[in-house]
Amino acid sequence: MDDELRSALRRLREEADHVVRVSGRTPVRSWLYDVTRGRIDRRPRPTVGQLPWVDAPWQDTVSGRYHGWRCRRASLKGGLAFVVEYVVCPYCNIGWVDKPYTVEDYQRCGLAAAGLAALRAEHPGVAWYTGSGHLRDSRPFWSAVGQGVDGAYQPREMCEHVEHHGGVKPRWKLRQRPQRR
Ligand SMILES: [Zn+2]
Repeated sequence: MDDELRSALRRLREEADHVVRVSGRTPVRSWLYDVTRGRIDRRPRPTVGQLPWVDAPWQDTVSGRYHGWRCRRASLKGGLAFVVEYVVCPYCNIGWVDKPYTVEDYQRCGLAAAGLAALRAEHPGVAWYTGSGHLRDSRPFWSAVGQGVDGAYQPREMCEHVEHHGGVKPRWKLRQRPQRR
């Protein structure tokens, strides 16, 4: 790795708390989904390739896979450098991250750690977990980034307020299914 890339990566890590947010909210479609109790669901579900892309070192958009999840991405030289998806339950103060990925050339440079640290700073008091199990290869990664973190990014089932593919459930859905696990 040359010095230029090394310093570009350092700058990117330092900028992790400067995030450009694209809300991606579709109030009318969400309203329709809510009033029809999910019967009419025209909420957009972009693929990962269709996600909005802004020219910023760090950006936060809707997730390409799950409703209600967010996608935090870092970019370098106009392309993707790091991505992670996450959701936070406002009732339980628990956050889940899923599928962090760093582009190969930039791996082991602390980008993921910086991105996750920024998310923690934005959500004080939240304990962090992963939504799925840890692959054997990723265990050293999780134990390193989880050090000293509330929840330590251990695998944990979604709480009753969050569904894996639907984010935080709407109120009517919470009422529909009493809180039993
Ligand atoms: Zn919850």
